[in-house]
Amino acid sequence: MKAEIIAVGTELLLGEIINTNGQYIAKRLAELGIFVYYQTVVGDNPSRLRETYVQGFQRADLLITTGGLGPTQDDLTKEMAAEYFQKKLVLDISSLERISDYFKGRGLPLTEGNKKQALFPEGSQILPNDHGTAPGCILEKEGKILILLPGPPSEMIPMFEHYVVPYLQGFQEGILISKILHITGLGESHVEDQLQDLIKKQTNPTIAPYAKQGEVRLRITARSSTEQEGLLLIQPVEKEIRKRLGIHIYGTDETTLEQEIVRLLLEKNKTLSIAESCTGGMICSRLVNYPGVSEVLLEGAVTYSNEAKMSRLGVAKETLKQYGAVSEETAQEMAIGIGRTAQTDIGLSVTGIAGPGGGSKEKPVGLVYVGIFYNGKVEVKKLQFSGKRQKIRERVTVEALDWLRQKLLQMEVDEK
Ligand code: ATP
Repeated sequence: MKAEIIAVGTELLLGEIINTNGQYIAKRLAELGIFVYYQTVVGDNPSRLRETYVQGFQRADLLITTGGLGPTQDDLTKEMAAEYFQKKLVLDISSLERISDYFKGRGLPLTEGNKKQALFPEGSQILPNDHGTAPGCILEKEGKILILLPGPPSEMIPMFEHYVVPYLQGFQEGILISKILHITGLGESHVEDQLQDLIKKQTNPTIAPYAKQGEVRLRITARSSTEQEGLLLIQPVEKEIRKRLGIHIYGTDETTLEQEIVRLLLEKNKTLSIAESCTGGMICSRLVNYPGVSEVLLEGAVTYSNEAKMSRLGVAKETLKQYGAVSEETAQEMAIGIGRTAQTDIGLSVTGIAGPGGGSKEKPVGLVYVGIFYNGKVEVKKLQFSGKRQKIRERVTVEALDWLRQKLLQMEVDEK
């Protein structure tokens, strides 16, 4: 099967947003064994959309579009698809009900435009939107398939995974079994480097790395006739990857770094408190993503100023004066201060320069110290990042959490 990916949206043409949908779908289609020879980006313009469908179907059997399913007049992907396949647009009652419920639940009125989102080319298979209003659909005619998906990645990705992948698998021989490995502390290129030979010779299973929010995910996918056979194919490849990446792999499949840390804190019966400076609460906020964290995370303090570091954490004035707020010594005293005063088993601290200002030759932007106080001892790790303020803060958050995870793995279970 040959496919073409069509990203619809004037914002994409103007460079206001990046076509991450194209990238995502391309990777997933490659894993599914579907060839992609062309990708197109087209604005919300009726005649150019029509032309894109015509050209696309001259080159491929399957076209997948993203975007342009919204409620406004310039959202035309579906309308032009109906015209191309010479189908009428008909109302789908269950989609209309879902959309009405969505708005009712938010106390908002339903507009004419939203009703338009429940219209579909006659005979299409509707793909419910579990994360927004615009449903997608699949149209088939004389061996040609057109799949229309919404633009926002938070809606497109789950729709693609839950409805489109099983649909496309129906055209393939055998089934696909996947396992995802979650990696921290190594960049995507580093991971690829370490696995270069495995990635090069991959056939079945395939290995695909994805970078996401300071982490890397590796998807291992096997094609087989049964689930058990697929898992057996994955096993030796996973073992080899684990041998090479070791402690950097923190979990598999549906997990997150915060979930793993909370799991370890609960398993080892430890409590945690955090004192943050340059991350401004980001580390705490990441952990709070995970329900159940309240049992182990007792306190988070954003101690941004020197005064707060002294009054809340008991950092000595002398330390700040002699070594500065961004120093190994301050990180040490912050970790001890939060751990002792919040009366937790572990105190975690972060102090650094997120930029863009505030850097110097000795202490450049991106210099960060992370401290961990545990069992009467304090350890500090010096890190150096580059990039913009937000990126630095995100990367510090992941690194600090990952270091905590690695320390937790070494801790004994506390019999309290
Ligand atoms: P909605 O139901 O939200 O109106 P839609 O299907 O009409 O969605 P668009 O209006 O085209 O989609 O795009 C909505 C938003 O989705 C864009 O502002 C952008 O943030 C995101 N988006 C659209 N296309 C892409 C793409 N190809 N890659 C990444 N993000 C995209």
